[in-house]
Amino acid sequence: MRRPVIAGNWKMFKTQAEARAFVIALKPLVANSSHCDIVIGAPFTALAAAVDAARGSAIGIAAQNMHWEKEGAFTGEISAKMIVEAGCSHVIIGHSERRQFFGETDVTVNKKVKAALDAELVPIVCVGELLAERESGRTEMVLETQFIGGMAGLTAQQFSRIIIAYEPVWAIGTGRTATPEMAAEAHRFLRQVAAAKFSPERAAALRILYGGSVKPDNIKGLMAQVEIDGALVGGASLDANSFASIVNF
Ligand code: PEP
Repeated sequence: MRRPVIAGNWKMFKTQAEARAFVIALKPLVANSSHCDIVIGAPFTALAAAVDAARGSAIGIAAQNMHWEKEGAFTGEISAKMIVEAGCSHVIIGHSERRQFFGETDVTVNKKVKAALDAELVPIVCVGELLAERESGRTEMVLETQFIGGMAGLTAQQFSRIIIAYEPVWAIGTGRTATPEMAAEAHRFLRQVAAAKFSPERAAALRILYGGSVKPDNIKGLMAQVEIDGALVGGASLDANSFASIVNF
């Protein structure tokens, strides 16, 4: 039985004060939500405030990106150690917005995954196809390439600590959700790729989240699919009531 994960991704939203107020509002709404892991991806500047506000709850805090080096002359970058020191448990790696706008590649995703694991962070690794790729029948090829590239060189033991988020790019922030069946089909395919690369047992234990316009009114249908182990939620994670309804699907 895979334990569900509901993770929020605030992107470039929320100051420290707003992050604190959100977490304080969320805590009582999810106090009895022991059926899943709850994670919030906050901006770097709000990580410590979110961690502080989440104390005494089961809410984990994630960074939305990191650099793979331990330290160095990398202006504007943040290391895994800094994220751990801020109190984070998770880090989102390879989000499509980073791939699209900031030059993230499967090679950099792979370096970041390894550095995150070395620092004891749980990586939430995002993969997903563009609309043109889906429409030209290349979805599986894209997912396989991103998965194999991102997981290159990991031991089975390291792989067991990874969470994958399947996020079709055409569904992110567009209000256009993949149907539960479409998402489940992609998850099934990713699990097959994981079984071939690692083992059927590791693949069966892998948690695969769906992301792309998840809202309180579509989470139930998505979670009804046995292949879907949770959600990575952007827009609908910005409001505590809306995020809590998704957590309490
Ligand atoms: C995301 O940011 O990962 C995401 C899925 O966004 P949204 O839920 O707004 O589509």
